[in-house]
Amino acid sequence: MKIVVALGGNALLERGESPDADVQEHHVRRAAEALSSLGGDHDLIITHGNGPQVGVLALESASDPALSHPYPFDALVAETQGLIGHWLLQAVERAIPGCRAVCLLTRTVVDSDDPAFANPTKFVGATYTEVTARRLAAERGWKVRADGASWRRVVPSPTPKDIIELDDIRQLVNRGALVICAGGGGIPVIREPLGSVHGIEAVVDKDLTAALLAEELGADALLLLTDVEGVVAGYGTPQARPIGSTTPAELRALTFAPGSMGPKVEAACRFVERTGGMAAIGRLQDAGLLLGGLVGTVVIPGPATPLATDDRLTTTRA
Ligand code: ADP
Ligand code: MG
Repeated sequence: MKIVVALGGNALLERGESPDADVQEHHVRRAAEALSSLGGDHDLIITHGNGPQVGVLALESASDPALSHPYPFDALVAETQGLIGHWLLQAVERAIPGCRAVCLLTRTVVDSDDPAFANPTKFVGATYTEVTARRLAAERGWKVRADGASWRRVVPSPTPKDIIELDDIRQLVNRGALVICAGGGGIPVIREPLGSVHGIEAVVDKDLTAALLAEELGADALLLLTDVEGVVAGYGTPQARPIGSTTPAELRALTFAPGSMGPKVEAACRFVERTGGMAAIGRLQDAGLLLGGLVGTVVIPGPATPLATDDRLTTTRA
């Protein structure tokens, strides 16, 4: 099988942990061991989040007195692809016997007229008071917004349209390599009318890029690995219930949190609707069981039927 795996930020860092290199390398090793549990003779394409890492680099860049301007986001995403790709290369080669891994710097094309540019929503970097945030916005051309009680920078999160290195990824997969690519949703770029591309200040959602990658590569399965057992309907309410086996139609009838589970559900639905393949959302350490449909939320094509709920999940948890 050809499988695209998207590793969530928790593959590298648990919430609240310090982003030290050794902490992240430890998590990356555990992630690679979890992927080795997929077993079988699969073609694996791995993509990953980069939220905490981009946050660290953005702060460093903003406070470096040698720079007249902080590095733009396309440059920061490129940095994180190299950093995380380097850790992942070592870890997967160690965890998966005989594995030959390659990490490819990957650019994702977005439309310059994507509505996200007029309405930036993705919070990035540190929190500030309103006064400081507005001053930084004036000095640096940032857009800032209230995030709860504090203020933060926001950048657009446009829809991924095209992956420039797609054909190279395909060739590497066909030659038997495990390919690590499109980290952090890919380096965001815009295509000029004459075909050249240039980077832009945006962050592409990594789950939506993973879905595009899986579709374009003709993958059989898309695994969205994170830190929860699966998708929960009515999350955080007394009516919360885990969703087991489901279809895009059933998921599309529900609403999910925009910054976290929403993009994963959207990515899973898009992939299944467009390809007829299977997508699964669940815990990183359950990767092998998820692929077998034994735990987590498994999205398969099909007519809408009553929502399948928690029996299987509660059984496996017990
Ligand atoms: P990742 O780094 O893996 O992309 P996210 O934080 O973006 O992680 O998404 C996973 C988180 O989504 C979970 O830790 C959980 O707190 C949150 N979440 C929000 N809504 C739901 C839901 N309906 N079902 C399960 N988890 C949800
Ligand atoms: Mg996420």
